[in-house]
Amino acid sequence: MPEVRARVEAIQSMVDSGVCLRCGDCLPEWPDISHTIGDACLPICTPCGNNEALEQVHNGGFVGPVAEWPTLPAPPRRSRLRL
Ligand SMILES: [Zn+2]
Repeated sequence: MPEVRARVEAIQSMVDSGVCLRCGDCLPEWPDISHTIGDACLPICTPCGNNEALEQVHNGGFVGPVAEWPTLPAPPRRSRLRL
């Protein structure tokens, strides 16, 4: 799917540029790691890491999906059934 490839490439470009994937600010020398996905491989800035930690406390351990991050391209829409 070209939309998925575009999202993965946008994420890779931001990581390579040292940009926080959640807010678009610069990453610190030692970034936090997002807990939105199981393998915890997405670097984020310290304020975003703190926000995720608070979100986890208030939401029973869950954090919002990556698709809600404003810095990333919108996820592909599912096609609608035509009747
Ligand atoms: Zn951030």
